[in-house]
This record gives sequence, structure tokens and C-alpha cells, in this order.
Amino acid sequence: MSHSSSLYISTRGGIKPLGFSEAVLMGLAEDGGLLLPQIIPDCRNKLAAWSHLSYSDLAFEVMSPYVGAAMPSESLKALIKQSYASFSSPEVVPLVKLDNGLFLAELFHGPTLAFKDVALQFLGNLFAWLLQERGGKLNILGATSGDTGSAAIYGVRGKKNINIFILYPEGRVSALQELQMATVPDANVHCLAIKGSFDDGQRIIKEIFAELDFKKQYSLGAVNSVNWARILAQIVYYFWACFRVQEKYEQPQRFQVAVPTGNFGDIFAGYIAKRMGAPIERLILASNQNDILSRFFNSGEYSRGQVNVTLSPSMDIQVASNFERYLYYRCAEKPAEVSKLMRQFAAEQRLQLPGKDPDFEAGSGNDAETLECIKRYYQNNGYVLDPHSAVGVSVAERFLCQDTPTICLATAHPGKFPEALKTALHDEQIGRHPELEKLKGKPLRKTIIEADKEKVKAFICKTLQQI
Ligand SMILES: *Cc1c(COP(=O)(O)O)cnc(C)c1O
Repeated sequence: MSHSSSLYISTRGGIKPLGFSEAVLMGLAEDGGLLLPQIIPDCRNKLAAWSHLSYSDLAFEVMSPYVGAAMPSESLKALIKQSYASFSSPEVVPLVKLDNGLFLAELFHGPTLAFKDVALQFLGNLFAWLLQERGGKLNILGATSGDTGSAAIYGVRGKKNINIFILYPEGRVSALQELQMATVPDANVHCLAIKGSFDDGQRIIKEIFAELDFKKQYSLGAVNSVNWARILAQIVYYFWACFRVQEKYEQPQRFQVAVPTGNFGDIFAGYIAKRMGAPIERLILASNQNDILSRFFNSGEYSRGQVNVTLSPSMDIQVASNFERYLYYRCAEKPAEVSKLMRQFAAEQRLQLPGKDPDFEAGSGNDAETLECIKRYYQNNGYVLDPHSAVGVSVAERFLCQDTPTICLATAHPGKFPEALKTALHDEQIGRHPELEKLKGKPLRKTIIEADKEKVKAFICKTLQQI
């Protein structure tokens, strides 16, 4: 049987190949692995034709081979258009050139002003389309420490047959983060502020998902960062960013792309883009003090450490959920090898690979470097970086290369992180965003609830019975 980019296998080899729709609905593979397409298409001979397309048309071309016959072309096209119409920039992902020669790809022009919108606007529409085709309902359940919650909510707000329940720790997310989640007026959005920590929220979700009968009865699902559709949507902007720089500026052949990293989702999409043939010479992985990934790319050792709280909270992650997908390619696409390494990691909290991957450079930036970077770019280049993007930029600076221009991914609008900005720039006015200012003082629609699984389940039952 010939292999196809629209059939999905597990990194651990334990499932029969699935179509795109099943892969999206399944999220995590049933053998505990992650889903990947059987093959990655080689698109090198398409680059010239793709380079002039609009963002949505490019997204269609990049995604089509992975979707295959699961969706009619016209439906996929319309779904992509709808997903990116919610972005405030007509380019969707505008490129900015700074005086020092660095390029920034601004991924934060979506409704919640962070790059997760690029994937979650698409995923929300995709879920709605799949439900409309197949019937049924989906009740999304998630826990957030702040930022992902709002992007997930905005992805599905107002969508038919979908409800979303987001748990966050009461009093422990920033005022702005809570406003972004709990001011959304749509009836299908349910914010649960739990009297506990983020870990309590995650534990409750995990326990509820483990109750398979309850999960099935209430059609519970997740939008976590291992869903293939999220990766898919993120592949697009790597091509886009390279094309825009080639077109507007000096026509260089190849680039380095620097990516601030947490769960290894965003940079894994870049890795796939590179394997498809995007003109990327290397990827620069940037972590904050939670440096499991940068340590791995420099030493070959992947070992769990403590989670540190930093100024770039969306990267405060130790074990990166998408890393297993990368391992699959490092193990020459041999699922048995991946399974062995993942078993070893589960038992010993570490694994080791020989050699260095020439596709990556990696480094970590601490809070002091982040603040210094924000300040210096504001003073020297008149550009306000958010703390996540600043981690990326400060690490990228260590790997600048004369003939290979560097594109840094800017993953959030600085207005989302006023405390860090104030510390860096000593001025509360800089970097504000009018949409965030408008939220201030709006009433919150939230339910405060005990950090107790049964209470959360009872809330879900009651809410769904009333609909
Ligand atoms: C989630 C997030 C990241 C990290 O992305 P991963 O896909 O988890 O690597 C970086 N910056 C911001 C602003 C984010 O929200």
C-alpha cells in the first residue's frame, strides 16, 4: 500500500492509519502516542507558485495534502478564509523589519492577541464543520494557567453544537487574562474559577477524562496542543514569513527562524515546514529558564527539571507535549524506537540521544535577559517586544549569521503582559492595546467553584441539561 500525507499513524505504531477527520477528533493516539501523517509531502517545486499567494490561499495549498479527501476543497477554502477573517491585519501575519536587520513575524493579530489564535481559530471552525457533517455535539473541557484559555474560547465562541468549559485558578491568573476569558458573552462559553491552583485544574480535567463513560455520555473533548490540526495551521506561516521577506526585501535564498518555545508545538510546525521544503536553513529554539529543550538540543540529554515561574508564563513548561513527534523523526521514523525511549523517559525521567541535529540551534534566556532585551529594542529600534518574543530575540542574537537573515516569531502582543513591560520600561503607557483597554471594568461571567472533580462534573451536567 502506498503511503499518504492524509493518513495518520501513531509515533508508537499501535493504531491503524486514520483519515484526517478521525485524527483531528482523536487528538492523542489511542496507544498513548501522537499522530503524524504517514509521509510529509515534498513541496520544493511549488515554492515559486506559492510565493505570490494570499495568506488564506497559501494556507489552502499547504494544508490540502494533509486533509486529502476528508473535506471538499471548497469547504476547506471557505473554512480557512473564515478563520483568518477574524485577524485585524489584512496580511494575517505581517512581517516587520527592524533597523538592526532582524525580521519579526507578528503572529499576534488574532482576536486574543497571541499566536495560539492562528491555530485555534482554524480548529474551532474545523470542529464546527466536522460536527455539522457527522452530527453530534462536542463539549470542550480545558484547564488554563492564563493564556491558552482565551484563545480556545475565542476559537469556539458562538459555534453551534459546541460548548466550552475552561477551568482556571481563581485569583491566580492576571486581571487581563481573566477579563479576556470571562467577558466573552456567548452562551456556549463557561468559565470556572476554581478555588485551587492550576495543577488542581489540570488534575480535575485529567480525572474527568479518565472516566470514559462520563466522557462519552457528555461528548467531552480537548483542544490541547497535541492536536494535529493545530500543528497544521502553524506550518503555513513559516512559508509565509520566508516569502514575505524574499518579496519585500533583499531576495535572500534561505533563512533562520527563531521560535520561543514551550510545548514544542510552534517550532515543530517549523520543522515540518523545513522538511516540506520551506527555505529555512535552521531553526533557533529559544527557551526561558525552563530549559529542558535547549539543554536537549545542546547536549542530547532530555531530562525533567523543576518548573520555574518566569516573565514568559506560556513557556513555563518542563515536559514538552509535542517533543515525541520530533523524536519520531530522530528515530528514523521507527515507532519501536520511540516507544522504547518514551518508556525509558517515563521510568527514569530522562533519555539521551547521540549526536547533534544540524537543523537546530538552541539557547535559553532568563528573566534579566528578557527585560534587557525589551528595553534595548524599545530604545534602539522603537519596537515593543512582549516577554515571550523577547526570549526568542535574545537567543536569536547569539546565532546571527551574515548571509542567512533571521526571522523571529513574535508570539504575543506586548499589551498582554503589562507587569513585565512596566518593569522593563518604567512606563505603563507603552505597548498598550486598545482592545485590551476596552475590557477593563467589564463585568465577569464566571462561576467560582471548589477544586473538586464532583462539583465540576455536576456543573457540566447541570449546564448541559439546561441547553
Ligand atoms: C504558547 C505560547 C508559546 C509557546 O508555544 P509552544 O507551541 O508551546 O512552543 C510562546 N509564546 C506565547 C505567547 C504563547 O502563548
